[in-house]
Amino acid sequence: MAQVSGELTAAPESTTVVVIGAGPAGMTVANLLMRCGIDCVVLERRTREYVAQRQRAGIVETRAVRMFDSWGLADRVLGGVPYDGILELRVDGESHLVSDSDGSEGLPARLCPQQILVQKLTATFLADGGDLRFEAADVSLHDLAGDRPTVRYRTADGLPHTITCAFVAGCDGDHGISRAAVPDGVLTAHAVDHGIGWLTVLADAPPPAHPLLAVSPDGFAAHFPRGPHTSRYYLQCPPDDHPDAWTDTRVWNALRTRLADPALTPGPITDREIFRLRSLVHDPMQYGRLFLVGDAAHIVSPMGGKGMNLALYDADLFVRAVRDHVRDQDDTALRDYSRSCLRRVWNDQEFSHWLTRTLHDAGDDTDSGSFHRGLARARLDRLFTSPTAARAFAELMTGPDLTGTT
Ligand SMILES: Cc1cc2nc3c(=O)[nH]c(=O)nc-3n(C[C@H](O)[C@H](O)[C@H](O)COP(=O)(O)OP(=O)(O)OC[C@H]3O[C@@H](n4cnc5c(N)ncnc54)[C@H](O)[C@@H]3O)c2cc1C
Repeated sequence: MAQVSGELTAAPESTTVVVIGAGPAGMTVANLLMRCGIDCVVLERRTREYVAQRQRAGIVETRAVRMFDSWGLADRVLGGVPYDGILELRVDGESHLVSDSDGSEGLPARLCPQQILVQKLTATFLADGGDLRFEAADVSLHDLAGDRPTVRYRTADGLPHTITCAFVAGCDGDHGISRAAVPDGVLTAHAVDHGIGWLTVLADAPPPAHPLLAVSPDGFAAHFPRGPHTSRYYLQCPPDDHPDAWTDTRVWNALRTRLADPALTPGPITDREIFRLRSLVHDPMQYGRLFLVGDAAHIVSPMGGKGMNLALYDADLFVRAVRDHVRDQDDTALRDYSRSCLRRVWNDQEFSHWLTRTLHDAGDDTDSGSFHRGLARARLDRLFTSPTAARAFAELMTGPDLTGTT
């Protein structure tokens, strides 16, 4: 403990990487650094309980599973059950089962809810002696363009801390402080608002046999497994709609109609919110010694389930680059970090955008018009009849291998 300008402060600390945020990106970075023997401190502004309960994504895709396996972590951090790689697309009540697996050898994707992944990553890091500090308030970043950035924060009791480091991993999502610490004009934001809202509902209700996406004249709907007795549902709605307008009865009636399933079993709704479908890419994903990882750098519309998986790939690339720097004094991968990540990010954005447009335009054509409805139906027809189109779709769902050089 020291006194600076009459204020008590913790003794200054030093580490190799300060990780901001303990979501999927931050906890993956932290665990992989630990596997490399590289020290880090993770700062999370929320409590452990809050972070552990945040429910969003539900599938860790095949290549992300294999990424964890390559680090010797798959058994420890992945929960849930193996995914059989079958996705149901239901169009006006007609069911089409499409493969969501590229047929390659090796571990399959997993139906692993995001909060389970985060809980397990957190438990693994702490069990291995990792330094993870919850309720870190007023985190701020300094000297990012220099050789030794500084991170300042306060503990819950108000005590100021200062940590100097070699690198900062900005893993604090779209509303964090990391990206905001980059001077104006350095990053370019590429954004699109799809003009679509989704009501998302979590319920203690039986999961579907396969993840289900449904096209109907009343609008898009989806039904995903989130555990043995839990489901997540989506219903297309106006982006400025209010969750209170969706009573339980209205939710279940709309789902039965749009999923063309009059016998759909309801259950207690535990969460409901409305969000706008938007997509966003920041380029570059780096400023000086700050590296943006996951949602801090990019947001993908949830269609196609790419957001969390991209965060995991960014984390893998970042840690490999830091390892090269520390172990071999080789900065090639650090210099290439942004370019390498953005290649995959744009690839997944394109797929997610394609699927978003296709499954919305093919249904309610009030906004998109009958011409776009015809185009979307033609794309679905091709997917259901052409083995080549089906293979391409499966590869994009699996997560294409973009590790080759450009
Ligand atoms: C409804 C919904 C459904 C989704 N479904 C899917 C899906 O099916 N598949 C998929 O792959 N993705 C999905 N996503 C996207 C996925 O949830 C995100 O891409 C993922 O959470 C990104 O992880 P992250 O670690 O980058 O960011 P986050 O999960 O946002 O984690 C950021 C962490 O940083 C912390 N933090 C923020 N500010 C600060 C600060 N100032 N100081 C310290 N800590 C801070 C936060 O508390 C949080 O713990 C969905 C998202 C939503 C909203």
